[in-house]
Formats: sequence, C-alpha cells, structure tokens
Amino acid sequence: MRMKDKVALVTGGSRGIGRAIAERLIKEGARVWIGDINEELLGKTAKEIGAKAVKMDVTNEEEVAQAVERILSEEGKIDYLVNNAGITKDKLLMRMKKQDWDAVLNVNLTGAFIVTRAVISPMIRQRSGAIVNIASVIGEMGNPGQANYAASKGGLIAFTKSVAKEVASRNVRVNAVAPGFILTPMTEALPEKVKEEYFKLIPMKRFARPEEVASVVAFLLSDDASYVTGEVIRVNGGLYT
Ligand code: NAP
Repeated sequence: MRMKDKVALVTGGSRGIGRAIAERLIKEGARVWIGDINEELLGKTAKEIGAKAVKMDVTNEEEVAQAVERILSEEGKIDYLVNNAGITKDKLLMRMKKQDWDAVLNVNLTGAFIVTRAVISPMIRQRSGAIVNIASVIGEMGNPGQANYAASKGGLIAFTKSVAKEVASRNVRVNAVAPGFILTPMTEALPEKVKEEYFKLIPMKRFARPEEVASVVAFLLSDDASYVTGEVIRVNGGLYT
C-alpha cells in the first residue's frame, strides 16, 4: 500500500477518468476526497467507491477555498492533488462563440490554477506534496474544432512546467498526464465505422481504459516518482510521440 495515510483530492472525480483515478488511489491506501460540481452524482459516487465528497466548482474561488479548508480541518493535510475536472465545447473557430472559449479555458485552465493555488501553501508548509494535471494529446497535437480545448490543455502543460520549477525546492512535485482517446460512454457510443477510422491513427489500435490513465497518475503521485517533476507523460497508445 504505497499511499497509506496519504490524503488526496481529485477534482471532477464523480465519473469518467476522475472516478477511475479516485478508485485507484483508494486501492493504494489513500484517503480520497472527490470534488465535483454535481452534488447528487458526487454523493452517489463517493458512497460507491468509499471516497469523501466535497462540492466544488473549480472556477469558484470561494467554494474551492472552503473545500480545501474543510479537507485540511478534517485531515490535517493534503498530500496529493489531481486537477482532472474538464469540459469540451467543440466548434470550428469561425463559429466558436466567446462563451465557448471562455467556458473551456475557465474550467480546464483557470480551474486548475485556482485549486492548485489553494493547496500549494499547505504543501509547501509540510515540505511535501504531489500534483498531477490531466492534460490531453489534443493540447500537444491540436485538433480541428477544438481550438479552445487544445489551448486550455496546452496552457495546462505550460502551467505544470512553471509551477514545478517554483515549488521543486520545497519537495512538491507537479506533473501532467496527457491521455489520448479514452473509453468513456461517449467514445463507446461511437459507430463501429468511426471507431475504425480512429484506430487507423492509433498504433495500438484501440482506445484506453480509464484505469490505464489512473495507473500512470498513481505512479506520478507516489514516491516511486520521487525525482520526477515538470514532466508530461503521454498515455495515448502511440498516437502522438
Ligand atoms: P467527464 O466524464 O465529463 O468527467 C468530468 C467531470 O468533471 C464530471 O463529473 C464533471 O461534472 C466535472 N466537472 C465539470 N466542470 C466542473 C467544474 N467547473 N468543477 C468541478 N467539476 C467539474 O470527463 P472525462 O472524459 O472523464 O475527462 C476527465 C479529464 O480528462 C478532463 O480534464 C478531460 O479533458 C481529460 N481527457 C479526457 C479524454 C477522454 O477521452 N475522455 C482524453 C484526454 C483528456 P458534470 O458531470 O456535472 O459536468
């Protein structure tokens, strides 16, 4: 149990990749808090997987501060943060409304900034901590119809590298994971023909299971990665190297 007695916060942990990460950290012995915007699903998931739930819209500074205070008062510390909450609002650039741009940048990039800033002081004070930001292959290779999403994830990678340099001397590590196509209800529902087209682009010829992202996140948070910081690990089946 390499995460025994560790306390983790996973944003957007109610479903999808965030839920898989939370489940993996629990399996490794951590006490996991999932922060999410939808209280009903949050409570349901927390109960199902044995996590604690804290309502948190990552774009709301006050709500994030209160959530972090609550975790600190109940646990006395936060060892791990996973900035996983993310959204898409895909449109070709010429049709993209400013609201579509702002919403995606707000959640995916500003949200990670707000939550990271809220936990960084306690981590620096305790002279230990690890943060993993969930980026995307799209943030590195771009994609038509996803200029807002690609910019947010590319920005998240640059954010990761900068904060890693700021806090490295305090024994706080900051890394990113850049997943490719992951099996979620959305990708599972794609017609076989469309999937086949995607598979042609992916050397491993399949999508990843969320658990295959979670295991890399767990590695980066754990002491097994004690000399790894400012790094981006791609989990994309060879799609982009
Ligand atoms: P998902 O199933 O949509 O889950 C995202 C979770 O984040 C949802 O529970 C969502 O709540 C929550 N959320 C949205 N806005 C939030 C906010 N403002 N504050 C707090 N929580 C919020 O997404 P996913 O597919 O698991 O993706 C997770 C992360 O991986 C995202 O950052 C995504 O960009 C990244 N990623 C995904 C893929 C993929 O193929 N799925 C590939 C590369 C990267 P609601 O349900 O209420 O909206």
